[in-house]
Amino acid sequence: MNRTFLAASLLALSLGGCAANTSSVAHASEQAAQTGVQWSLVDTIDVEAINSDLEIGKPTVDIGLYYPSNLHPDAVEILPLGGLVEEFQNAKKVFEPTGVQLNLLWVKTGTVDPSHLAISASKWETELPSGGYGNMYVQSAIHPTEMSDGAVESFETIIEPALQNSRTVYLVAMQNVYMPYYEDLDGGRNWAPKMVNTSGLSFPSYSYADTIPNRIRGVITLTKHDSTNKLTIAHELGHKLMNVSHEYRDVSPQHEIRSDEGLMLYGSGTEIPSGQDGRWHQERLLLSPYIYRTDATGERNWNADYQAGGVYYDPIYANAAIQFD
Ligand SMILES: [Zn+2]
Repeated sequence: MNRTFLAASLLALSLGGCAANTSSVAHASEQAAQTGVQWSLVDTIDVEAINSDLEIGKPTVDIGLYYPSNLHPDAVEILPLGGLVEEFQNAKKVFEPTGVQLNLLWVKTGTVDPSHLAISASKWETELPSGGYGNMYVQSAIHPTEMSDGAVESFETIIEPALQNSRTVYLVAMQNVYMPYYEDLDGGRNWAPKMVNTSGLSFPSYSYADTIPNRIRGVITLTKHDSTNKLTIAHELGHKLMNVSHEYRDVSPQHEIRSDEGLMLYGSGTEIPSGQDGRWHQERLLLSPYIYRTDATGERNWNADYQAGGVYYDPIYANAAIQFD
């Protein structure tokens, strides 16, 4: 969540794309199924205690945390497992006022092919400068960013097959996740290709739409623990679950704003505002396809899935979307 990362995320909103190379994606999936990681539970973390405040019937998000056992020692130092657990517990508090509760499924560790721990997030050829017509969400829906083949292969290998894969959020500790973007050099005429080393990346559907294989669409990468505000996980969950970029009240996502208000701006803010003035953040959160409610018989009732690939103006949001220039 450093400043560079924020700027890149804003730029990445309008990065473009062409049709997905589905055959190579399918091939990567088959390979992954054969070479999955041997994960085991981290028994020093008391998941039951962390979940002890969960209530039946409340809107709930299932979240798993993968923490590779062979991260480089320097990476462990800036991304300690204890710090991530602390951030998860803080995220529970951040979402509490909205009524949404976070269910920690498990924390797992295992040896991951080191080549899967450092990746480029998206395909260069799907990126476009942000200087086009229409707001960033409109441009992203026309040209979604596509996850790189290397990233797809990593997550297909890391995330275990499960019945509710596409409705589950997976926090994955990584070493380096680079995001390509274009920097405006002179007011929109010349653009320079750049790469930013991210602290956390949510692969949000307002940017990637349905180009990510459904099974792994819930992935969020973590590469740096926020030891000051302890908000990286909460902020990235905000991107994934509200499906919005860096915006807050009258701040549209074009602007890079440092502020201590609002979970989705850069700083110590945690507010998830509601209503049109709040850019419908709370309403959008409660419509997330990652949310279910358990009824009295124990059955899970899931929210409706996206109808248009999860773009910002997906019909599931109806009027809970801001029309802006
Ligand atoms: Zn962000």
